[in-house]
Amino acid sequence: MKRRDVLKNLSLLPFVGTGLATVASNEAASAAQTSNKRNLFEELGVTPVINAGLTMTFLSGSLMMPEVLEAINSTAHDFANMFELQDKVGAKIAEMLGCEAAMVTSGASCAIVLGTAATITGTDPIKIKQLPAYTGSQPEVIMQKSHRYLFDQAVTTTGAKIVEVEGPTEMENAINGNTAMALFFNAAGKSSVTHEEFVAIAKKHKIPSFIDAAADVPPVENLFRFQKMGFDLITFSGGKMIRGPQSAGLLFGRKDLIEAAKLNHSPHEAPIGRPMKVNKEEIFGMYAALKSYLERDHKKEWQEWLDRVDKIKSIVEKVPSVKGELFVHPGPANAFPSLYVSWDHEKIKMTAPEVVTALQKGSPSIVALIATKGTEKVLNIGVVLLRPDQVKLVGRRVKEILENQQG
Ligand SMILES: *Cc1c(COP(=O)(O)O)cnc(C)c1O
Repeated sequence: MKRRDVLKNLSLLPFVGTGLATVASNEAASAAQTSNKRNLFEELGVTPVINAGLTMTFLSGSLMMPEVLEAINSTAHDFANMFELQDKVGAKIAEMLGCEAAMVTSGASCAIVLGTAATITGTDPIKIKQLPAYTGSQPEVIMQKSHRYLFDQAVTTTGAKIVEVEGPTEMENAINGNTAMALFFNAAGKSSVTHEEFVAIAKKHKIPSFIDAAADVPPVENLFRFQKMGFDLITFSGGKMIRGPQSAGLLFGRKDLIEAAKLNHSPHEAPIGRPMKVNKEEIFGMYAALKSYLERDHKKEWQEWLDRVDKIKSIVEKVPSVKGELFVHPGPANAFPSLYVSWDHEKIKMTAPEVVTALQKGSPSIVALIATKGTEKVLNIGVVLLRPDQVKLVGRRVKEILENQQG
């Protein structure tokens, strides 16, 4: 008999025998169930990591909410027409977010590709087929110089070129017959054109305006803010703090543009967005994640994060000279609490980056970050992505590492 069959038979034991035997075999059954559980991390030698940082794609983003896993599992057993699914889920999301239309993309980057494509092609099947080798004049996307960022490659992926402007006058002067849209990066440190000016100029010249707010919840209010301001297209990542599938995101806004974006996406066979497919379960999962996020008690969640910071702080401060300090990121991206940990380097001969390395190499492996406080590099412990059972453990590991380095 194979090991798994043995375990399967073991789990049948509770159905025979006396009361006492039942208790004993129930334990055996639950032990069997635990050991029967396939551990794919182990099977493949992949290290499970505790994320004491923030949502980072290299670290698989965030952990999906239980509601999302339930949505994935409960919808995996039937087929669905993907056009119908995207339409129905999109309509529901649009209703939830108070906008005209919405769709699920394979992340915010995909939303930028599809949104840009939509503003270039509209519903024209010839243009959709041509992208990114568009035969007309090269489409232009206007961005503020200070808003240029890594993710704007998703704009040029469509074949469009980015035209940089500084200030409202330059923005207005840059608009011409080739302008497809104007993109605003919400978390850019500086803006020479405010949100309101940006939308007003775009509207005046009938140019679609797009805002990338991928990592900008919390606060939850941001999910409603930009459509009220008048942006035509808005994106948020699904796999950051909304805690949906890592390969999902939201694109929402004007109905005609969302329709055009859908034409540039899977399940259509070949357009530019076809390689950015989202599966049925993730579309359901994204809806479940958003619903759960909107219904969450955000005040309570924030308080839980503060309690976690306190808990870890009190553990690490047991080491002489170690100080913990609450840090709340001002946003717009990653606007949540974390803990800064610093110490007297005369007493503890270890730098913050060395502690980060020790945490990462330890067992279990913990990924923490470095922050700059004044001129000092301090250890930054993120709390928002920890499972409840990992909070004290992270505190204890930091404490252990610092204790062992005391001079
Ligand atoms: C994370 C992020 C993206 C990419 O989002 P994905 O959902 O991972 O595709 C784009 N823009 C900004 C500002 C981001 O923070």
